[in-house]
Amino acid sequence: MTPDPFELLKVPATLPWVEAAARMDASAQGVLLAIDGAGRLLRTVTDGDLRRALLQHLPDTTTLAQLPGQAPLTVDESATLAQLQALIQQHGISHVPVVDADGRPVDMVTARELSQRIWMSSPHLGDEETAFVEDAFRSNWIAPLGPHVDGFERELGAYVGVPHAAALSSGTAAMHLGLILLDVQPGDTVFCSSLTFVASCNPIRYCGAQPVFIDAEPGTWNMSPAALERALEWAARENRLPRCVIVVNLYGQSADMDALLPLCERYGVPVLEDAAESLGATYKGRASGSFGAIAVYSFNGNKIITTSGGGMLVARDEATVARARKLSTQAREPAAHYEHTEIGFNYRMSNVLAGIGRGQLRVLPQRVESRRRVFDIYREAFADIARIEWMPEPEGYRSTRWLSCFALAGGGAQERDRILRSLERHSIEARPVWKPMHLQPLYAGAPYFPHAQHAEGGDVAGRLFDAGICLPSGSNLSDADLDRVIDQLRRTLRRTA
Ligand SMILES: *Cc1c(COP(=O)(O)O)cnc(C)c1O
Repeated sequence: MTPDPFELLKVPATLPWVEAAARMDASAQGVLLAIDGAGRLLRTVTDGDLRRALLQHLPDTTTLAQLPGQAPLTVDESATLAQLQALIQQHGISHVPVVDADGRPVDMVTARELSQRIWMSSPHLGDEETAFVEDAFRSNWIAPLGPHVDGFERELGAYVGVPHAAALSSGTAAMHLGLILLDVQPGDTVFCSSLTFVASCNPIRYCGAQPVFIDAEPGTWNMSPAALERALEWAARENRLPRCVIVVNLYGQSADMDALLPLCERYGVPVLEDAAESLGATYKGRASGSFGAIAVYSFNGNKIITTSGGGMLVARDEATVARARKLSTQAREPAAHYEHTEIGFNYRMSNVLAGIGRGQLRVLPQRVESRRRVFDIYREAFADIARIEWMPEPEGYRSTRWLSCFALAGGGAQERDRILRSLERHSIEARPVWKPMHLQPLYAGAPYFPHAQHAEGGDVAGRLFDAGICLPSGSNLSDADLDRVIDQLRRTLRRTA
């Protein structure tokens, strides 16, 4: 491992103050941590302390321990971000050392970091969105529907190579309509990837149907073909085949469609592809979201492109998408008096938001490149740490690396939380991998098919949850932001290793 810059801050308290000045410059932090023979923190030394020593003409031999001053304000490793913020504000200090149970400094939080939060995946606007939005205002197309809705549908469809698309108010709304279009009825079952965000499967319940959860496989972190096959065999035996299978493409990467689709075809079960996280990814040259009978994208604020909130449903079948548009606008029959024969929803995207989407779509290729670059920087920075197992990208897959995720080999939830706490202390937003749906209280009792039947290697999703972490991954992260994440994660891993 390369030396931790934090280690450069530690100096023996017996160091004469004149020698400390050079160390201060080398650390470039404006602070040093003077430690005693046992490695305990005796005091912090700021450049202000050294300046005063100079002005007071203190003898060169005066040690750091002898400088005037008082015991430093410190926190222990359980300190939360809020506690640190309060401490910094209350005392007007710029650095807070973190000490272990024996009083040895293990970390330091700066006021500057806390004022510059690093988000996991924040919106990143391009140059053209405002022009589209201004056009919507100028032309008074503020009401839902309008030329940008049509344009966004056409352009997104062309981008992913699916001929028909319906712009909707959210990815969740698109999932709900997708299930209705696949005729999911109360009492039906629907299979769904377990390792996902809850919006993949809540719409199953909206339809009055019951989910059956399918594990992930280690090679893609997406739906396990082995688990799906066993689940379909079971369902066929019980004479309860699912109405559809929701295949999720996690964290910017497609599932193994060549293995999953033939299984579904064998049993005549259609696939609803949840591509909310994978717009811009490809699988064997084809766009993620172009494989299911119906597929869904999301433009929520944290996704790779955003309309602040929104979704899209795509399908090859024109009538399916026409029906999605009808159901999303209260299911009006073509009559001036608002005739209704079925239940509809208010799920359509507005023309203003579609304008934002058109601008965002134009920068999607750059967003993919930026996120992949973020991932490459992390991978290179941690190349020497074998315990970090990045989400794999098998041959033939091209992930967007929407989120840069890894699992710590041999790691558990305790270590994961310790790492997340330490990042959060520095105002760096990171998260565990999605908590699998089969472990959610909401879905307790739902059937679950693990990747392997033997205990070891079974429940891949559960293991990834325990050991997995998603790092800041936004396309607008600066190199300085990435350095901060890398430095902090290294320091933490060194301590937990
Ligand atoms: C974000 C997301 C959704 C829901 O999309 P919204 O636009 O937020 O409603 C569905 N599935 C997955 C996997 C997601 O990540």
